[in-house]
Parts: sequence; structure tokens; C-alpha cells
Amino acid sequence: MTNSVIPLPAVTLVLLGVLLAFVALISIRPLRRALISRPLFGIYKRILPSMSDTEREALEAGTVWWEGDLFRGKPDWKKMHAYPKPVLTAEERSFLDNEVETACRMTNDWDVSHHRYDLDAETWQYIKDKGFLGLIIPKKYGGLGYSAYAHSQVMTKLSTRSSALAVSVMVPNSLGPAELLLHYGTEEQKNHYLPRLAKGLEVPAFALTSPWAGSDAASIPDFGVVCKGTWQGKEVLGMRVTWDKRYITLAPVCTILGLAFRLYDPDGLLGDKKDIGITCALVPHDHPGVDVGRRHFPLNAVFMNGPTRGKDVFMPLDFIIGGPAMVGQGWRMLMECLAAGRSISLPSSNTGMAKMTARAVGGYARVRSQFKMAVGKFEGVEEALTRIGAYTYLVDATRTMTAGAVDLGEKPSVVSAIAKYHVTERARKVVNDGMDVIGGKGICLGPSNFLGRAYQQIPIGITVEGANILTRSLILFGQGAIRCHPYVLAEMRAAQNPNAAAGLLDFDKALFGHVGYTIKNGLRALGMGLAGSHFVGVNADVAPEVKRYYQQLTRFSSAFAFLADVSMLVLGGGLKRREKLSARLGDILSQMYLISATLKRFQDEGRQKDDLPLVHWAVWDAMYQAQEAFDGVIANYPNKLVAWFLNRIIFPLGHPYVVPSDDVGHQVAKLLINPSAARERLASDTFVDRREEDPVGAIELALEATLAAEAVEAKIREAEKAGRFDNNPLANVRDIAHAAFEAKVISAAEYDVVKRRNHLRDIVIRVDDFPFDLGVAGAAQPAEKKAA
Ligand SMILES: Cc1cc2nc3c(=O)[nH]c(=O)nc-3n(C[C@H](O)[C@H](O)[C@H](O)COP(=O)(O)OP(=O)(O)OC[C@H]3O[C@@H](n4cnc5c(N)ncnc54)[C@H](O)[C@@H]3O)c2cc1C
Repeated sequence: MTNSVIPLPAVTLVLLGVLLAFVALISIRPLRRALISRPLFGIYKRILPSMSDTEREALEAGTVWWEGDLFRGKPDWKKMHAYPKPVLTAEERSFLDNEVETACRMTNDWDVSHHRYDLDAETWQYIKDKGFLGLIIPKKYGGLGYSAYAHSQVMTKLSTRSSALAVSVMVPNSLGPAELLLHYGTEEQKNHYLPRLAKGLEVPAFALTSPWAGSDAASIPDFGVVCKGTWQGKEVLGMRVTWDKRYITLAPVCTILGLAFRLYDPDGLLGDKKDIGITCALVPHDHPGVDVGRRHFPLNAVFMNGPTRGKDVFMPLDFIIGGPAMVGQGWRMLMECLAAGRSISLPSSNTGMAKMTARAVGGYARVRSQFKMAVGKFEGVEEALTRIGAYTYLVDATRTMTAGAVDLGEKPSVVSAIAKYHVTERARKVVNDGMDVIGGKGICLGPSNFLGRAYQQIPIGITVEGANILTRSLILFGQGAIRCHPYVLAEMRAAQNPNAAAGLLDFDKALFGHVGYTIKNGLRALGMGLAGSHFVGVNADVAPEVKRYYQQLTRFSSAFAFLADVSMLVLGGGLKRREKLSARLGDILSQMYLISATLKRFQDEGRQKDDLPLVHWAVWDAMYQAQEAFDGVIANYPNKLVAWFLNRIIFPLGHPYVVPSDDVGHQVAKLLINPSAARERLASDTFVDRREEDPVGAIELALEATLAAEAVEAKIREAEKAGRFDNNPLANVRDIAHAAFEAKVISAAEYDVVKRRNHLRDIVIRVDDFPFDLGVAGAAQPAEKKAA
């Protein structure tokens, strides 16, 4: 026997040599810095998109939370399950069941939105007296000091009743004077204003938007010039401020106006800086020169909203929130506080609208019959009901988890943008579907229309607190990539380091960490894709029915992390301009967040078996949407070779998801039209005034009556089929039950059951009609004067 060495082909030897040389190169740090990092650092600095201070402050504001895990490719499920389930204290629960319930009961939305164009004076006084305007103000300042979750619950329930009521409470508790004062106010300002705000002795508004600067709010043209002037009989240092703002909620009734403007100091009275930057001040509404009081009319939503103007209005520097020390800090202050308010306001109010739709439209679809069948049982209508149910479950899960983050002390800038965008978009779908299901009943406005106003006002949530198109195109991925990525921010900071040598060291470290991270995510995504994510470990105790979703989400997370990195590498700064690609990347991150919120809800609520259809449909749909967003990015990649490669890594065996099944959809729709504990959970804390006179209350009563009458109806149908009414041609036209009673098919008691159903059904399907002039002459009563 001879010892033989199989000769390696020369090409393999060469490749091995190159690999070894490369490994040696990257292991010897000075060498790798000189030969790799330094030239790349130069290129990176050139291609890094320029960023203004305001853009940087916006990007860097807030904290990274659970979305960071989803972004980085390896979500720690144990960590997610360990986030405490948000709960109400006994005091908060009592407030929701009593004071919030009463405020809802006091508000008749039709009266408010059609006759008064404002809440009535009694309701205004009630919400002020009971502390609704100070939910977030700590107890030591006389506020209610509620958790973010309780705040969210209050907003959700108020929104199931009336947008005027909800928004009037929302703004003082959202990004506005109270929030800014709490974080940045001087002790004197806090002690003066916070107790007054808490008790509703002051009504706040905050004015940022101007006709020329809406989405691009950092470029407001409103300005102040530092100067001396007279204030309370003395000469003091102050500023002359000129502004023209629009769309300002509560401005027409505010007593203190928060104002953002750019401050200039041409005479150097405060120091060397001439352009000091955006500054926030609090100005009393009756300060000379302040113009408030006129109103806009936002889609028949009658919460107070209007313009405010002022020209060369002198105010002392003490009006600045935080005093003179905070001049020029306004943009940072606004960006830092935005996350908390954005996490609560719109996600909660839109969840409220969705819950009300799920409850009322579900009930209506069972009460209303056509072709001798409840409309909710037709497959076509089922499709709409399915979306209503599953999306309502998902948005409620999302706003709950996001409010929980705020209670954990987070200022989740990316998550709050995801929640704001996706809850408002899904609520829009829910309300639109609801309108389709109830047909003409939703279209004709009047006191019996329970959905028309919500339908009108849905676009408001889409537009405010970061208009949705902009949020999706610029923020979700743009900010997400920079904030959540473990290396990108470090690389950017290194490039901006004025000390070039220190910058290179930091860049080198981040760069090689980044390369290893990208390769790992790519390999993980490929491995999981090849195994259909079957062997992915889930490091948490999860229900077997949903375990696959955790596995698939882990796979999508790795694939996303890889795709995000390749996109940043291939497109660089160009990604900022390619909004469609950025938006789709943001969609993937968002869907992953929505899915995890849905799974967390299922877990936190004790894995309710009856809720599983809602969970399955909502998760499948979101997975499918995420998959479509992956496809959308890859199909539109400018470099087709890279696109081909990405497709092979991310979907090596094709697509794992198809649209959610019709069978699951059927179960969701059934859940909406049948009273059950699951239905109550879905629409929990919806305000329902269980009286025939109330349009939603009447549906609840009619739904119960309809179910009670169904057995009797079945008896009647049997008799009909058997020809018992053949010689009574009118029986089927209007009241077959009467004929059945006369023919002794049903008893008197059974007839009563049907009569009650008929009575309530007729109330529910009724639409309002008006005199020829639509009541304009008779109803032209002046709106009550401002309530302050
Ligand atoms: C009822 C109501 C209440 C409001 N309350 C207040 C308040 O209390 N205080 C306050 O200061 N402001 C308030 N606003 C203003 C609100 O924040 C702005 O309306 C919002 O910022 C959008 O500005 P815009 O309406 O001027 O739209 P524009 O800025 O003109 O935007 C038009 C469209 O272009 C899109 N867009 C803009 N830039 C980009 C981009 N780079 N990429 C992609 N898309 C882009 C937007 O998404 C939008 O769809 C309120 C508005 C309304 C309607």
C-alpha cells in the first residue's frame, strides 16, 4: 500500500490562499484599518446624506424598544413575554366605569355635531371638574397621575361615543403644554400651570403647523426677535413674535397657547448666536396681540380647531417653556415628547372607533335580513366582517402593547410611529367595511346613524401627528434603520466625528461588526427558509396553536435584517429618496410588530381558545402582507442580480404564506354576529347605552331579541314550507308571525317574542328623514359660546 496525496485543484488552492490572506488582513487591525477601513471611511463620508440639526434631533429622539429585536433578526421571545401585561389600578378602573361612562352618556354625538357644533357647557364643565384634562399630570400637581395604559383606555372608550368628546380630552393629554411643562418647565411654571391645567382652569392648545410648513414642520416661518420691551410696567428682555398658524386643536377655546417659532437675536442680546433656533413658549390667550377664536370645520368633527395669528407680539423671555435657558431647544423638546403622545392618542381613538364598529356592525348584520337571511351570514358580507373582527383584535393588541411600553419608561419613537400609522390605516379599513355592511343606513346622516360620523372623521387621524404617507415613506424604516440597527448609528457618528483619527477607529470597529452581523443574518435566513422554519427554537412558553407564528416571525426577522443591510449597502444614501422601497421595508418591520403585539395579547389574556380565529386570521394576514412587502422590495431592486440573489436567500423554496383561509374567516365573522365572551372581549369598554333611543344600544337589544326569535322563526318557516299559509297571500308580505299566531303555529308568548324582535329591528333599520330644507330654518340655533 502506498501513501497517496490527492492533489487539490490549483484553483481551490488559489481561493484558499486568497481567503487566508483576507482573514490575516482583517485579523491584523492596523493593516485592515489602513487597507480597508480608511478608504471605505472616505467613501462613506462622501455618500452619507447630509443631515440638518433638526433632522438629526428627530432621528435620534426617543428610545428603541421591542422593534429593536425585530429589526436585528433574532427576537428574544422570552423578553417579549416578560413585558408586564398593562393593567388598570382600582382607581383607574373606577374612573373608566363611572366618570368616563357618565361623560359618554352626557354626550349625544348627533346633537353635538349637527346642532351645537360643540360639546354642551355642562359636559365641558364635567370633564374639567373631573380631571379629564389632567390625566397625565402627576397627583402632586393636582392631576389624576394615571398610567399611559389608563390614559389609552379612557381615550379608547370616549372615542366609541364621540370624536368631539374624545379629541377635547386627547389634546391636553397629548403632546402639548402639560407634557412639555412636565419635562422642561421651570419650577415656577410647573407650580403655576400644572394645577390649573389639571383642574381645567386652563385649556391648552399647541400651535406648530403653519400654512407653509405642515409635514415639514421644522421649517416654520413663524419667528421671534429678541428685544427689550415693557412687561407689567417694567422694561424687560423679551421677544417680538409673529406667527400665522392653522389647524390648531382647541385654539378657539384655549386659555394658554403653546407656540413654536424660530428665535433670532440679531443684536446679540442673549449671546453670539444670531439664529437661535426653534423655541416653544406659553402665551395667555388674552395677551395683547394674540388672535384666537376663529374655527376650521374638519369634516363635521366639531372639536374646537382653528387658526391663530399674531404680529410683533411682545412677550417676556419667561414665557419660554423652561425659561431663557431653553431658547432654541424647541425642536428637541417636541421630538422627545412626541413618542409618548403619539403612542397613545391616535392608536387609542382609532381603536375605539374600530371596537364600536365591530360591536355595532356585527350586531346590525345579524338583525338586518335580506333574502330571508341575516345579511351577516352571506359569504360576501362575511369577508368584510372578518376584516372588521380580526383587525379590531390586532389594533387593540397594538395600542395596548405600545401604551405598555410608555409605562415602562420608554419613549418609543419608531414603535409609536408604527402604532399611529397602522392602527389608523386598519381602523380606516374597519370603518369602511362597516359602512359597506350597513349599506344606506350608514350613508344617510341623522341621529340614528351610528357610523357616518366615524367614517367622515377617519381621515383626520390619518393626517395628524405625522401624515401617514410621510410616516410610512420616511419614518418607519428611515428612523427604524438608524435607531434599531446595532451599527449604523455608530458608523454615522464616527463619520461626523470632527476628530478624524478617533472617527476612523470607531468606524473600523462598527464596520467589521456590521459585516459579521449581515453575514450571520443572511445565513440564518437561508437556513430557516430551507427548513421551512420548522426547527427554529422559541425561547418562551408559547401556546402550541401559535408556535409556528413565533418560528416564522423569527425567520422573517432574520430575512428582514439581511434585506435591510443589503439595501443600505446597495442603495446607500439613495434609499432616502427611494421612498417606495423605504416604505415597503417599513411595512415589513411594522407587520412584524403588529404580529408580535397580537401574539402577546393572546398570551397575556390567558390564551383564550375562542379568540383563536381572530389571532389566526390577523396573524396570517399580517404575515402575508409582510411577505408581499418583501416581494415588493426585491422586485423593484435597481440591481437585478442582487434582486435574484436576495430572492434565493429569503425565499429559497418559494413563499410560505397565502391569503388567510375562508374557513378561519367564517369563524371570525360568526364571532361578530353571535353574543359571546369572545365578542365581549373584542369590543370591551365600548360605551353602550342600552336603550331603544340610542342607536348602538338599540342594536344590542335587537340582537338579543333576534336570537330569541330565531327558534320561533324556524317553526314558522317549517309551517310555511308545509303550506300552512298558502291561502293567506298577505302573510309573507309583512307579518307572517301574525298569520302563524292566528293559525296556532306559534303561541301567544312566542308571538310576543317575534313582535319584540320586529319592534327593535324596525328601530335599528330606520333612517332619519328631515323637512324639505333639512331642518336648516328650524335648527339654526347658535352654537353655545365657548365653554371656558
Ligand atoms: C383636524 C386637524 C387637527 C390638527 N391639530 C394640530 C394641532 O393641534 N397643532 C398643530 O401644530 N398642528 C395640528 N394639525 C396639523 C397636522 O399636524 C398637519 O396637518 C400635518 O402635519 C400635515 O400637514 P399638511 O396638512 O399641511 O399636509 P402637507 O404637509 O401639505 O402634506 C401633504 C401630503 O404630502 C405628504 N408628504 C409630505 N412630505 C412628504 C415626504 N417627504 N414624503 C412623502 N410624503 C410626504 C403628506 O403625508 C401628505 O399626504 C392638525 C391638522 C388637522 C387637519
